[in-house]
Amino acid sequence: MNSNFVYAFADGDGQNKQLLGGKGANLCEMTQIGLNVPPGFVITTEACLAYLDGNSLSPGLMDAVRDEIGKLEAATGRTFGAGSNPLLVSVRSGSAMSMPGMMDTILNLGLNRDTLAGLIEQTGDERFAYDAYRRFIQLFGKVALGIDDEKFDRHFEAVKQRVGVKADIALDAANLREISDKFLEVVHRETGSEFPQDVHQQLRLAIEAVFRSWMGKRAVDYRREFNITPDMANGTAVNVCTMVFGNRGDDCATGVGFTRNPGTGEREMFGEYLTNAQGEDVVAGIRTPKPLQQMESEMPELYAQLVALRDRLEAHYQEVQDYEFTIEQGTLYCLQTRNGKMNAEAMVKTSIDMVAENLISRERALLRIDPELLEQLLHPRLDLDSTHRPVATGLPASPGGASGKCVFDADLAEKLGNGGEQVILVREETRPEDIHGFFAAQGILTSRGGKTSHAAVVARGMGKPCVAGAEGIAVDVNQRRAVVGEQIIHEGDVITLDGSTGEVYLGAIPTLPPQFSDDLGTLLGWADEAAELKVMANADTPEAASRAREYGAMGIGLCRTERMFNASDRLPIVVDMILAENPADRQAALDRLLPIQRDDFIQLFTVMSPDPVTVRLLDPPMHEFLPTEQDLVEQIRTLEIYRDVARGRQVAMTSIPDVSELPEALLALSEDHINDALNKKERMLKKVRELVETNPMLGHRGVRLGITYPEIYSMQVQAILEATSECCRQGIEVAPEIMVPQVITAQELARVRVMVDETTARLEQETGQPLRFKFGTMIETVRACTRASQLAVSAEFFSFGTNDLTQAVFSFSREDAENKFLPMYNAQGILEDNPFEVLDVQGLGQLVEMAVSRGRAQRPELEIGICGEQGGHPASIHFCHAAGLNYVSCSAPRVPVARLAAANASLRQRQ
Ligand code: PEP
Ligand code: MG
Repeated sequence: MNSNFVYAFADGDGQNKQLLGGKGANLCEMTQIGLNVPPGFVITTEACLAYLDGNSLSPGLMDAVRDEIGKLEAATGRTFGAGSNPLLVSVRSGSAMSMPGMMDTILNLGLNRDTLAGLIEQTGDERFAYDAYRRFIQLFGKVALGIDDEKFDRHFEAVKQRVGVKADIALDAANLREISDKFLEVVHRETGSEFPQDVHQQLRLAIEAVFRSWMGKRAVDYRREFNITPDMANGTAVNVCTMVFGNRGDDCATGVGFTRNPGTGEREMFGEYLTNAQGEDVVAGIRTPKPLQQMESEMPELYAQLVALRDRLEAHYQEVQDYEFTIEQGTLYCLQTRNGKMNAEAMVKTSIDMVAENLISRERALLRIDPELLEQLLHPRLDLDSTHRPVATGLPASPGGASGKCVFDADLAEKLGNGGEQVILVREETRPEDIHGFFAAQGILTSRGGKTSHAAVVARGMGKPCVAGAEGIAVDVNQRRAVVGEQIIHEGDVITLDGSTGEVYLGAIPTLPPQFSDDLGTLLGWADEAAELKVMANADTPEAASRAREYGAMGIGLCRTERMFNASDRLPIVVDMILAENPADRQAALDRLLPIQRDDFIQLFTVMSPDPVTVRLLDPPMHEFLPTEQDLVEQIRTLEIYRDVARGRQVAMTSIPDVSELPEALLALSEDHINDALNKKERMLKKVRELVETNPMLGHRGVRLGITYPEIYSMQVQAILEATSECCRQGIEVAPEIMVPQVITAQELARVRVMVDETTARLEQETGQPLRFKFGTMIETVRACTRASQLAVSAEFFSFGTNDLTQAVFSFSREDAENKFLPMYNAQGILEDNPFEVLDVQGLGQLVEMAVSRGRAQRPELEIGICGEQGGHPASIHFCHAAGLNYVSCSAPRVPVARLAAANASLRQRQ
C-alpha cells in the first residue's frame, strides 16, 4: 500500500497543488497557519490518475482512508457510521486549477438509519437531521449512483406544493422525513438496490465518483475551453473533511466571501451568507442570500471574526481570496480558500491597490494578471439614453453589455450560438451542466441566485456580462417563455443585459467602445518598464493607427499598403493600373495613385511620430483587386440585355412619332454608354483570365510583383520617401521603414534596394534634404529563413510574417485547415493549438531561431520583429522574447495584452 496517496490537513504540503489540488493544498496550509479548519484529509491527484488508469482504486488506498477516518474520530470524539455522536464528512473534488462547479461534491456522508437516529438523539433536532439526510440521499444518488436530480426534485416540489410552502426552510421535520423516505424509494427504484447503509462503502463510492468526475463531460469541456493542459492540472484530489453545520439553528450560517470586490476590485467586505443553511444553498442560488455587510448587525461578534479571517487570508496569500465559511452554533470555520477569480477591471485595480498597500511588489502585480484577461477591458458598454427603460433589474454579476435572442436552455444556446446567432442564456438558475451554453452565449440572465451564484462566478471567469437573481422575471422553460409583470418574453425575442448595473432591457441596444482606466495606464506603464520586447501595432489607416496609439503601441510594425488601395476612391485607379496594356498607361494610373499614397503616409507618420512606421510594399496577387470571373460574366450578360433594350428603344424612337412621354431613365439609355461599359468589363474579364493562377498564394505576389512591374514598387517607394521629406519639412520627426514581402533570395532584395537608393538620391537632390529610413524584409518563406545571412546584407531589419510562414511550414492553407480538419486535430490532441493563433514553437520556432542567429551573424545590429497574428498571443510572445526578437506587432486591441505578456516574459526569465 502506498500511504502517500493520503495526507492529513495537518501534514500535507500547502504548496503542492499538483498533488493535493488547490483546495486540498489550501486546507492543509490554513490548518498549519492556525486557522479554524474542521479536521480532514486529502486523497492525492496521483490516486485519481491511478484509478482512472486501472479503473479501480489503488490497493491499500481504502485502508489508508480508514486510518485517517480513525484519526478524525479521535480528534472529534465522534464515530463514523454509529452511535449518538456520528461523524459525518464532506467529500469534495479539487484539482490544481480551480474549475468552479465542474466536478462533484457530496455532503453529509456517513448518514444511514443508525446515525440518523444518533443525530436526532444528539441534537434533539429532528428537522435538522432529516434535512441533512434528504440532502445527502439526493447528492449521493446523483453523484455516486448517477440518478437524475429531476427524479428527486419532483417529489420535493410535490411535498412543498401539498404543504403550500415556497421556501425549503418552511418545511417541518415530518415533511422532510417524508421527502427522505421518497428519496430512498427513488434510489431503490432507479438502482434496484437499497441505499447503501455501510458508511465505508458510501465513502468508497463517493471517492470513486469524484475521481470519475475528472473525466466527466463538463470538466473535459471546461479544460478544453480554458486550455487547461495536464501540466497545469492532472486529475482531481478528493478532500474528506469533518462536516460542520450551518443549518443547525439561527446561530448558524454559511457563506462565501471575496477579500475584495471581484467586480470592481474595491477593498471591502464582499460576499453573501444565509442563516440556518448549508453551503450549497448559497452557491447554487436556491435561496437568494444576504450581503455580508448585513451580518454586522445580525451577528456582530462573528462578523468581527470574519473580518479578521479576511485580513489574515489576504496577508498570508498576498492575493485576493475567494473563501467559504460556516458558522456552527457560534463557532466560525473556514472551509475553503482559493485565489479569487475576478474580471479584468478588478484584477487591474487590485494590482495597483495592493502595491500601494505594500502587500505585493510591482513585479508580482504584473505577474498575477493573465495578459489575456486584459482583452475584457475592451468589452463594449451599452449606449443608453433616457428613453431606455429596464423591464427588470437583478444583481450586476459580471460587467459589460450584450444583446441577443433569449434562449431558455443551454443546448439550444449552443446550437444557435454555433450557427452564428447572438444569444442570451436565460435560466431560473444555472448549474454546472449548462457550461456549454455559457460558451455560446453573449450574456447570461438568471432569475434566482446572488453575485456568487454559479452563473455569476462562471460568467465573470469568461468575461461575459451576467445579470443574476432578477427576481421580477419568471422563467417558464416548459412554455419557452419568461414573464415580467404583464410582459411576455418569448424564446427568440431580443433582449439586452447590462451586467454592470444589473438591468435588463427589451430589444437590442447599441454598444460603445470601452475606455482605458488610469489604473490600466499605470499598470501597463510598469509593464513597459519591465519588458524588453517592444510592442508595435499592425495598422493600415490613420484611424487604426490612432487607436493603436491609445492602446500604447510603440510604432507600426506592419502597414499593409494594399488595404489602402481598397477604398472606393482608389480602387478604380488600381483597376486602371492593372488593366493597362502598356507601361505608359500603367504609369498614368500610378501617377494618379502617388499623391493619394503620399497623403496616407504623411498622416500615418504624423500619428505615430516619432516612432517607426513599417510600410510593406504591395503583397497580394493582382487578381484580388478585380471582380471574380463569374461576377464579370454575369455583369456582361446583364449589360448585353441593356444594350438590346437600348437598341430596341432607338428603333421605337424612329418609328413612333411622339416619344416625349418616355421616362427620363429610358431616354438616357444610350447604346454607346453601354458599349463603353461592356468594353471595360470585357477587358477586365480577359485580364482576370490572364491572371488566373492555380495557387495564387504561392504564385505571382509579393516581391515577385515588384520585380515584374517595377513601376508599382517605384511609385510606393517614392510616396513613402516624399511623405518622409514632407514631414521633415514640417518639423515632424519620423522613422519610416520600407519592408519587402515574400522574399526568397538576396537578389530580389538587392534589386529593390537599388531602386530605393536611386529614388532616395534623386529626391535628396531635388529637396536638398537628407532622407533617413530603414530598409528590410519580411521573413515569411522557408527559404528566407535558411538564407537569412544573405538577406541581412541589404536588410536592416527582419519581420517574421508567421501567417504565411506557418502555411509554408505546415504545407497547408489556413482556410482549408480551419474549415476542414484543424478543429478535429485540436480536439483529438494531434495538434495542441491552432498554429495560426499560437506560434508553433516546436517546428516553426526552430526556423525563427535559425534565421535570427544567421541574420545577426551577418549584421549584429539587425532589428527583428514578428507581425503575423501570433505576435499578439502571450505564449508566442514568451517565445519571441526568449528568441531575442526586438519587437512584436499585433492588431490594436491586442496591444495591451502584448505589453503585459512582454513584461511577464522578461520577469519570468529573470526569476
Ligand atoms: C504574414 O504572412 O504573417 C503577414 C503578416 O502577412 P499577411 O498576413 O498580410 O500575408
Ligand atoms: Mg504574409
